[in-house]
Amino acid sequence: MSFQQGSGGFGGGSGGFGGRPREMHKATCGDCNKECEVPFKPSGDRPVYCKECFAKRKGGAR
Ligand SMILES: [Zn+2]
Repeated sequence: MSFQQGSGGFGGGSGGFGGRPREMHKATCGDCNKECEVPFKPSGDRPVYCKECFAKRKGGAR
């Protein structure tokens, strides 16, 4: 019995892999003000970022 913890697969979490398209919601990027779509429902409380800005913010400063 030497299974690795095999229940998830790729240890990502909410990754974008898979065949099934997610429900996308229209939103306006809080950074570049571009119209974009996000895989979650924008609450209106927090700014939403487009893919580019999101990536920029996430992996930018270090
Ligand atoms: Zn943006």
